[in-house]
Amino acid sequence: MQGAAFEAVIGLEVHAQLLTASKIFCGCSTAFGAAPNTHICPVCIGLPGALPVLNRSAVDYAIQAALALGCAVQPRSIFARKNYFYPDLPKGYQISQYELPIATGGALAFPSGGETRRVGITRVHMEEDAGKSVHDGFVDADRRSYVDFNRSGVPLIEIVSEPDLRSAADAAEFFSRLRAILVWLGVNDGNMEEGSLRCDANVSVRPRGQAALGTKAEVKNLNSFRFLQKALEHEIARQIDVIAEGGRVVQETRLWDAAAGRTVSMRSKEEAHDYRYFPEPDLPAVVVAAARIDRIRAAMPELPDARRARLIAQYALSDYHAGQLVQSRAVADYFEATVKAGAPRATAQTANNWVMGALAAKLNEIGAGIAASPMSAEQLATLVIEIDSGAISGPIAKDVFEKMFGSGRTASEIIAAEGLAQIDDEAQIVALIAEVLAANSGPVGDYRGGKTSAFGFLVGKVMKAAAGKANPKRVNELLKRALEA
Ligand code: ADP
Ligand code: ZN
Ligand code: MG
Repeated sequence: MQGAAFEAVIGLEVHAQLLTASKIFCGCSTAFGAAPNTHICPVCIGLPGALPVLNRSAVDYAIQAALALGCAVQPRSIFARKNYFYPDLPKGYQISQYELPIATGGALAFPSGGETRRVGITRVHMEEDAGKSVHDGFVDADRRSYVDFNRSGVPLIEIVSEPDLRSAADAAEFFSRLRAILVWLGVNDGNMEEGSLRCDANVSVRPRGQAALGTKAEVKNLNSFRFLQKALEHEIARQIDVIAEGGRVVQETRLWDAAAGRTVSMRSKEEAHDYRYFPEPDLPAVVVAAARIDRIRAAMPELPDARRARLIAQYALSDYHAGQLVQSRAVADYFEATVKAGAPRATAQTANNWVMGALAAKLNEIGAGIAASPMSAEQLATLVIEIDSGAISGPIAKDVFEKMFGSGRTASEIIAAEGLAQIDDEAQIVALIAEVLAANSGPVGDYRGGKTSAFGFLVGKVMKAAAGKANPKRVNELLKRALEA
């Protein structure tokens, strides 16, 4: 395998749409899915003389993302014109930040193969999105192209990483962690199918141990974690083959062809655009006062890593369980609300089991997110209390949960109404055991003759006789006593 002699070097450029209600330089709506060209005005279709005005919330969101990535927010940044011709770009230039971006110099760290991978963030800059070309028809005669400018002027941030990634899997993990942070903050909806989050991957290979970077290729527009990983795996192998055959990797832009499972060349360095950047004369510099940064920082939610550490410390959860809970802020919130509502009788462990187990399964079944759960955290807490106090057994709890879900009733209401309370009473359990032993002389004889596997069978019979309500621990103890008597 020649691959082992080479090392891959990867840097990502991620575009994230900011969740503002209106566009970055005009008041048009950013809502997705409207009829084509209904969210447009002279500014975002680039009519001569129309002047852009910067959306303040877009800047606030960009600052939040930058702070979450540990970047330094610049007190002064500027917009520039990035000139190129394309039908979906009505002005003939995109307003973007170039030389002086809103933020620089952060990092995102995550565990990988037992180590911590730290990936530098070079910069975060703001820009406007372009419109969208729509191609229709397959036969020349009725082939049509359309342009929809609803997306033109939607606010984006571009997050550029340092070339610190070393494998396709780490790149996918980095992108996934980045998405989680942006969604957690509420600055991006994480929707890659709708194009709210897109990734370009830059990749090169070099002989292991060589310090200088190899020539990179850029793979454009990867809109899923899987495509990113597959495209990089393919591209790394392709570049290694080129070098192993005595060739040289050329600097170019490539596209991922998902159907063919390979990357294909889109344009070479010679054909690359010369964007002729220059400062945007219609917009003043973006000046961010220290007090504004402090205010935004203070209002930011606790971030996933910090939240995970706190969940472990505060609730004695395992690293694994805490990690699961912080995959979504809404899930972590729901869990904590359940524990709080059930305090002091509900345990965090049981609350975690039910939030991540039965509740998650049920929400998945009805296709609802946890924020729209028909069962509130307060309602679930009533069930956790009954379980932790030993009032109901595990299988009965499942039944009670089913009856609670969507009914708005508390666990104790259902337990009382249906007579589901656990039987702990010794006399009652002993009576059930006596019945079962009398009716199962065969297995009883087996057990007494040394065949201990008959015990489980008899436990099952007693539980059945108790309609599942007997305290299993008590049944075990009392059955053993009866058999050994
Ligand atoms: P360009 O000028 O072509 O846009 P940049 O230096 O701005 O290149 O880098 C763009 C992205 O490519 C960044 O994410 C950076 O980390 C990454 N990158 C730069 N050089 C390399 C390389 N040799 N191999 C892999 N990635 C690279
Ligand atoms: Zn507009
Ligand atoms: Mg660049």
